[in-house]
Amino acid sequence: MIHEYEVVIIGGGLAGLRAALQVFDAGVDVAVISKVNPLRSHSVAAQGGMNASLGNVRGPEGSVDTWKNHAYDTVKGSDYLADQDAVEIMCREAPLSVIELEHLGTVWSRLENGKIAQRPFGGAGFPRTCYAADRTGHNALHTLYEQVNHRKIPIYEEFFVTSLIRNQERCTGCTALEFLKGEIHGFIAKAVLMATGGFGRIFNKSTNALINTGDGQALALRAGVPLKDMEFVQFHPTTLYGTNILITEGARGEGGMLLNKRGERFMEKYAPGSLDLAPRDVVARSIEEEIAQKRGFEGDYVQLDLRHIGAERIKERLPGIRQISMDFAGIDPVNDPIPVQPGQHYSMGGIDVDINGQTILPGLYAAGECACISVHGANRLGGNSILETVVFGRLVADKIIEDINDLATPPKKQVEKGIKTSKNHLEKIIQSKGLENQFNIKNMLNKTMSTKFGIFRKEDGMLKGLGDIHKMQEIVSTVSIKNKELELNHALIRLLELQGMLHVAESVAISAIERRESRGSHKRTDFPERNDENFLKHTLVKGEAGNMVVSYSPVQLGMFEPEERVY
Ligand SMILES: Cc1cc2nc3c(=O)[nH]c(=O)nc-3n(C[C@H](O)[C@H](O)[C@H](O)COP(=O)(O)OP(=O)(O)OC[C@H]3O[C@@H](n4cnc5c(N)ncnc54)[C@H](O)[C@@H]3O)c2cc1C
Repeated sequence: MIHEYEVVIIGGGLAGLRAALQVFDAGVDVAVISKVNPLRSHSVAAQGGMNASLGNVRGPEGSVDTWKNHAYDTVKGSDYLADQDAVEIMCREAPLSVIELEHLGTVWSRLENGKIAQRPFGGAGFPRTCYAADRTGHNALHTLYEQVNHRKIPIYEEFFVTSLIRNQERCTGCTALEFLKGEIHGFIAKAVLMATGGFGRIFNKSTNALINTGDGQALALRAGVPLKDMEFVQFHPTTLYGTNILITEGARGEGGMLLNKRGERFMEKYAPGSLDLAPRDVVARSIEEEIAQKRGFEGDYVQLDLRHIGAERIKERLPGIRQISMDFAGIDPVNDPIPVQPGQHYSMGGIDVDINGQTILPGLYAAGECACISVHGANRLGGNSILETVVFGRLVADKIIEDINDLATPPKKQVEKGIKTSKNHLEKIIQSKGLENQFNIKNMLNKTMSTKFGIFRKEDGMLKGLGDIHKMQEIVSTVSIKNKELELNHALIRLLELQGMLHVAESVAISAIERRESRGSHKRTDFPERNDENFLKHTLVKGEAGNMVVSYSPVQLGMFEPEERVY
């Protein structure tokens, strides 16, 4: 079956839905494709909040926040790798985006005076993070989903996109497998927006939903589009020991303290100025160091103590965190400290786009976590990601609306060919009689990424890891799945994801090996210092799986000169 729209958006999270509203309201014909019901997109899990310099809560000595303060914290937090023109846009647009979400229906937590509440987050000089208790993403995603439904924008849910269609000059649509019926559909579009989220699940110990497998990044690579800054993977300092469910930074924003097994507030040693509210890369490394120095509990975790905050405030501001602690660790943070350890959390890198969200392939755009418009650089500040999704979901949509009149409707031919190629690929997988079990490969991949490309990295370990990824890429072609039907075939979807994950993992590995310095989340024990002379630049990586190449592009400086990062 072939469908025709002016714009197709792949992804029903915050970025995809925000873009869909914008495109629809401009009178442009648009549809959303999502491999799950949009409300199951990972955005629903965002807890702590969204940054904007509303200035509703005063900063040090009664000072009032500005977009420029926000931009400074973001650029410093990024270890000077963020593009400052993109950061400026995001920070200037932030207050408007919070209010816009409110007008669409998002219920923000309030101060006593009725203004939108704001709390401190790591690496921020002001209490800047607007929140809806500790369920901010849930609140915002439901709001946008209601608005999309109200407008009756078509949503193809449980459709797994299998390929992007391109001719010599441009992207002309995509193909997707309808999970329920097992049919391959073709989508013809003048413009395609990727909003497919992160790739956290290539690692183990991750806060990410199981669906965060980097399909969008893999689709882009296969269409010849590079990925940018893939070596910068964020490890969140506080994930629940045992399950790695996120314990939001908002918990430290409300006053939570990290303690080692001697009862010491160890952040006094690592970041005396910011303590527990230093940026994530700094806090995650500090915890890892405490554990390595045998000052962790059971050799594996530290504690996050909220008890002094008081039961009332915990119940009001952190109800979800309390529930998660009770349900998954059997403790109530009102009475007991929460056991926490670092876990993979966010992908700073992604599909290489310019300031308008355009890739090098005309007609193909990207926004949200799958993209690298480069507002986070080498380390993202908490509360800046939801912000990025809604700001650039809107602005990239505006660019698409501007471009659409100049783009002719693509011919059907290529989509028909794409459907055929996708069908053949799926049939080949279904018919394969190999012995290997795909879940063994997935486990191997997760282990390789966490041990060789985790919080601390070193050349020899990473080279071994890359070799292992190449071997896994070979083995994956010998996998056989038991279910031989195309419809309702979970194993098939998992295998398609795994093929993409291996490609994305290779891009992380190669980028990390080639960056011989330490910056933000990328900590090399063999090159412990930041090296601006050689590496103040973005990494670009592209190519077929097993045969990728690296190049570089300049960082956009401007407002703030790089300086040593001290907290
Ligand atoms: C536990 C947790 C808490 C967080 N808390 C915060 C916070 O408090 N503040 C903050 O700023 N950030 C937070 N973040 C980060 C933030 O939530 C995400 O970066 C952001 O929501 C990503 O939104 P997105 O729209 O880019 O992608 P997602 O919400 O991940 O949506 C991706 C969409 O793409 C679709 N998709 C993917 N592949 C395919 C395919 N092959 N075919 C079809 N569809 C596909 C999926 O179905 C989904 O609809 C948190 C992250 C985590 C993990």
